[in-house]
Amino acid sequence: MSVLIGGGTGFVGRHLSKMLREKGHRVIVVSRTAGKEKLTWDDVKKNGLPSGCTAVVNLAGRLILEPFKRLDEKYLKELHDSRIDTSKLLVSAITSANVPPKVFVTISGVGYYPPSPTATYTEDGVNGSDWLAKLAKEWEAAGVLPEHVTTRRVIVRSGVVLGADGGMIKTLLPVPAAVYLPMLQLGSGKQWFPWIHVKDIAGIITHAIEKEHMKGVLNGVAPHAINNKDFTEAFNKAFKKMSYGPMFVPAFTLNMVYGSEMAKIVLEGQKVVPERTLEAGYEYFYPSINDSMKEISAKF
Ligand code: NDP
Repeated sequence: MSVLIGGGTGFVGRHLSKMLREKGHRVIVVSRTAGKEKLTWDDVKKNGLPSGCTAVVNLAGRLILEPFKRLDEKYLKELHDSRIDTSKLLVSAITSANVPPKVFVTISGVGYYPPSPTATYTEDGVNGSDWLAKLAKEWEAAGVLPEHVTTRRVIVRSGVVLGADGGMIKTLLPVPAAVYLPMLQLGSGKQWFPWIHVKDIAGIITHAIEKEHMKGVLNGVAPHAINNKDFTEAFNKAFKKMSYGPMFVPAFTLNMVYGSEMAKIVLEGQKVVPERTLEAGYEYFYPSINDSMKEISAKF
């Protein structure tokens, strides 16, 4: 297949491109900057999809959780436009293609569901009402294709993606990963921590592209739900950190670093289960957090 990946230069995109190329597919990336085997968004706007394109994926999106970055109007607009405008542009290119691609896969986040200590969310779970849930809803809606278009549509609602070369570990945890001190639990540590190894988010998207029966929403999370305390323990065990007994970062520190709206993302969580993903026959490379963290720590 010939797969076009919006935002394919990023963490998930690089792993997905590698997996697809290893399976014999051709990959073309859409980026804000021109380069080898890359198109720009302007190229797609002007010329539509490249000829022979059989699958389209959109992973583009400005990073959501950045230390000391406040959720002001400008940042919110960037978070919004980088996801919604790129998705709409791809919908328009798919709709006007002479031969429409077989499948269109978009990513979204488990922030679609409302944080809760007790609820369990399958792919049929309700949409939340905070800014992140509203953004996820709009992001998913921006990728809706007109009814007459025959292209299959798949939405992957991803948990926190774990891998050595990007995402949370590289952006937020390079210090705990690199130094002798242990990582600390965040707040009570009881909040759910929906996660997935980067090889599995790439694997689920690849499965969605290749399996012709796949359509609708798939939760992109590992099958074993854990909380923040479980994640912290697995991280410290894999990175062989010294233990000083139970220690935690208090909520007010996180509120200071991220601002209260952003800090909520790490202080509250959702229990998300990949019911349809498993029913669809996807087999995980890293179903357990301990194996996942072991693979990641070995790369440091
Ligand atoms: P990255 O930040 O690594 O990559 C995203 C890509 O989006 C970048 O390579 C960039 O491509 C493009 N991008 C960034 N900012 C903008 C912008 N302002 N306008 C247009 N394009 C932009 O993200 P990941 O690979 O980690 O994540 C991929 C997608 O999955 C994102 O949409 C993210 O929100 C979502 N997701 C990720 C999770 C995670 O834990 N990593 C969890 C849940 C969802 P270029 O510079 O080439 O234009």
